[in-house]
Order: sequence, then structure tokens, then C-alpha cells
Amino acid sequence: MKITFLGSGTSQGVPVIGCTCEVCTSLDFRDKRLRSSIHVETSHQSFVVDTGPDFRQQMLRERVKRIDALIFTHGHRDHTAGLDDVRAYNFMQKMDMPVYGSQPVLDQLKIEYAYAFIKDSYPGIPRLLLNLIDDEPFSVNGIKVLPLPVMHLKMPVHGFRFGNFSYITDANFIPEETLDKLKGTEILVLNALQREPHISHFNLEEALLMADKINPKLTYLTHISHKLGTHAEVTKELPSNVLLAYDGLQLETR
Ligand SMILES: [Zn+2]
Ligand SMILES: [Zn+2]
Ligand SMILES: [Zn+2]
Repeated sequence: MKITFLGSGTSQGVPVIGCTCEVCTSLDFRDKRLRSSIHVETSHQSFVVDTGPDFRQQMLRERVKRIDALIFTHGHRDHTAGLDDVRAYNFMQKMDMPVYGSQPVLDQLKIEYAYAFIKDSYPGIPRLLLNLIDDEPFSVNGIKVLPLPVMHLKMPVHGFRFGNFSYITDANFIPEETLDKLKGTEILVLNALQREPHISHFNLEEALLMADKINPKLTYLTHISHKLGTHAEVTKELPSNVLLAYDGLQLETR
């Protein structure tokens, strides 16, 4: 299985519009962070987790020719705002795009993209085939996906485990039952927004504590704000088994 980080930034992205801080003016390509999303590829399947506002740009950059399913973590705009561009795949694949999400996510999509759900609608709108998920494992074209329920302040959010790879974005609390589901994971992705505490995201210190507790072989941090610091500087402070994700980073996993 191949994982590609399509984006590793928080809701504003990095650089932040108008900001002249050291991170936002850095020339390092790893300090250019589009909104958080990943591409999961197996020998015969291609999934994208979340379609933020940078979805189109991400698909062009990574030359993604086919998507078999879109899987959503939660309904926040920085994870859903790019969905209209799924039209390109409707056109190429000549089919409605299967979308997987919890009831609140599907409800949110029906509000944000109301025009896509009107009967006898205008041709050329996004074609979506909604699939409801809960906290139970589900399968997409033979690939097993294990939802990882976490909390994002008061909002339930899904992380997802594919084999030995687990992806958790937008969380500040992981319940015991989910820690059980993470057992044996080899590669873990966790959100680490910034250094200061935040009401709905792990900060760096909390993410490091959680990585230590879950104890995978490798942890990658994502959903990063410009306040965290430059990729090069923050990397120096991290233990050897924790790395910062960056846009375009690819991982091979089982
Ligand atoms: Zn987010
Ligand atoms: Zn900045
Ligand atoms: Zn969020």
C-alpha cells in the first residue's frame, strides 16, 4: 500500500495569506502545506481521505488518474471544500463517486453541495453516491477500513486504519476503545497543530505523548500550523521515531 500526503497543513494552510513570519516566508518546499488529506493506493484501489479546498491542486500535482472512493474524517470545511472538483472523475470514470462518511458528514455534504442532490439537476454537477459509515469496520471494493473514533473538542471525528497504517487528523482526545484499535499499528499519523495548547487539536507536546503511548514504529505529524516552526527546526527537536509530514511525502506500508 502506498500513502501520499496530499496536504499536511491546518485550515489556513501554510503560508498563511498575508503572513510574513519565518515559516510563511521559508523557501523550504516542506514549509508549503496545503490543507490536510492523504491518498491511499493499493494494487487495485485508489482512495482519497478528505477533499479540502486544495483538492484540485493536489490531484493535479500527484497526477491522480482514478479515485475509487472518497472517505471523510469529518465535515469541517478545510476537509470538504474541494468536493465539487470530483466532477473530473465523474467524467473520466463515467460513474458516480462513492463517498463514505458518518451521518453528520453526509448531512453536512448535503447542505454544502445541495445543488448536487436536486432531482433533474443541471448537467455537469458533482455526482456522489453516499455511503453511511459508523464506528464499525467497513470494506471498499475488498479493502478493509477500520474507523478510529476520536474527539475534536465536542465533535466526533473518524480516523482510519488501513492494514498497519493509521491516520488521525483533527483530534484532541483518543478514547480507550480507539487506543485498542490502534494496537500493532506500524505507521501512525497524528495531528500536531502548534506548540501552544489548542481547544480542539493536539499540540506538539500532546501529540508526542500520544505517539509514545500508542508506540508505533514511526509517527508522522500533520495538520500543522505556521505557529509550529519551520520543518527543519522542529525536526531537530523530535525523537528519532517521530517525523513531520510534508506535502508530497510518500510512504510504503503493509
Ligand atoms: Zn482540519
Ligand atoms: Zn506565518
Ligand atoms: Zn476539523
